[in-house]
Amino acid sequence: MQHYDYAVIGGGIFGCYAALFLAGRGASVVLIEKEQFLFRKASLVNQARLHSGYHYPRSLATAAMSDEHKSRFTAEHRAFVHASFEKYYAIDKYGSFTDPLQFERFCEYLNIRCDRTDNHPLFNYDRLEAVYRTEEHSFDPVLLGNYYSEKVMSCSSIDVLTGSRLTDAGAFGKSWQMTVQTPDKMLLLETEAVINATYAATNSINILFGLPSLALTHEISEIGFITSRQFGNMGLTVMDGPFGSIMPYGLSGLLSLSSVAYTHHAISTDEMPVFDCQTPEDNSCTPRAPGICTDCSRRPASNAQKMLAQMKRYFSDVVQFEYLFSYFTIKSKLQASYIDDGRPTEISMLSESPRFYCLFAGKINSIYEVEKIFR
Ligand SMILES: Cc1cc2nc3c(=O)[nH]c(=O)nc-3n(C[C@H](O)[C@H](O)[C@H](O)COP(=O)(O)OP(=O)(O)OC[C@H]3O[C@@H](n4cnc5c(N)ncnc54)[C@H](O)[C@@H]3O)c2cc1C
Repeated sequence: MQHYDYAVIGGGIFGCYAALFLAGRGASVVLIEKEQFLFRKASLVNQARLHSGYHYPRSLATAAMSDEHKSRFTAEHRAFVHASFEKYYAIDKYGSFTDPLQFERFCEYLNIRCDRTDNHPLFNYDRLEAVYRTEEHSFDPVLLGNYYSEKVMSCSSIDVLTGSRLTDAGAFGKSWQMTVQTPDKMLLLETEAVINATYAATNSINILFGLPSLALTHEISEIGFITSRQFGNMGLTVMDGPFGSIMPYGLSGLLSLSSVAYTHHAISTDEMPVFDCQTPEDNSCTPRAPGICTDCSRRPASNAQKMLAQMKRYFSDVVQFEYLFSYFTIKSKLQASYIDDGRPTEISMLSESPRFYCLFAGKINSIYEVEKIFR
């Protein structure tokens, strides 16, 4: 039986950050990741928007949380942040939940840049009611993944178990005992505290420990990757409703493409992510242990051309885009967030003795929320 102060389950950015934070305070940590490599799911497949608040004009809580952590995240990850591109937010003439006056007041309240731009040659003002030059950055998920993977791997207080699955867990007095199947052996681990940072698999881990699940919705989501000679490395987000976004994917030189209407392919409102593409023969992806959608031959056909057709309406005729490829992953959301479209990071202590924390991630720059719990 191996003993650790903390067991962190899930090797995305939230699990890695939590493990490093706890190790930095002198704790021994085991980080357990189901896949062969860290950072293969939501922490890699996302739009790489370093949120400054603009995106959530109807959720002041999410907007304020993004804004709260933006400067620190940028300062501590400067080498992985693209901070020098022109970023525009715009309001569609038809069907937006936000109007220009509301958006301007919201930005004023948050004290974030919002300069109305009424004659930019690359945008189509027949479709856009208002366009604003804003200040929003983009983090580089690939570079971040390399950085955090190297950090946890080289930290002497963290044992990283990749390709490993929890098969059993239970409370014994003030400790948890867990059985973990690694690629070559079965391990018995004991710890005083567990942090569940598995995002799409949150409920499966909570249930394994006999704890309540969260009300979540799961969506198979696609991020397209494109380039444009005319638009270069700029960004346009048309909010707040069924619109979309094109913006730099970190420092890669590529633009990410997403759209509220077409990014999400299939939705599961089940306790765990249940999708038709999962088959009993393939245990690399099950509702209990979802897999890597990009690598899966049964992933949905791309919606990238639909997303592009939708987004092209907002650009003048001179702007052309070239589609390259797409990444897919499961996006999970708190069902409560449907009301205001917010994406808070929620950390709940589901068991006090032994301790169990369920860390359900919102935005990437809210990794620091972990510190508020483990003071
Ligand atoms: C399409 C999309 C677009 C997004 N856009 C943005 C954006 O622009 N900006 C932003 O800030 N945020 C964005 N997000 C949200 C952000 O990406 C996530 O909140 C964040 O990456 C979650 O990090 P995580 O570490 O909790 O989860 P993940 O990165 O998914 O990591 C969870 C890990 O747990 C592992 N795991 C699962 N089950 C087990 C198990 N049984 N045992 C061991 N390990 C397990 C998984 O394999 C995975 O590696 C987006 C998300 C998606 C999906």
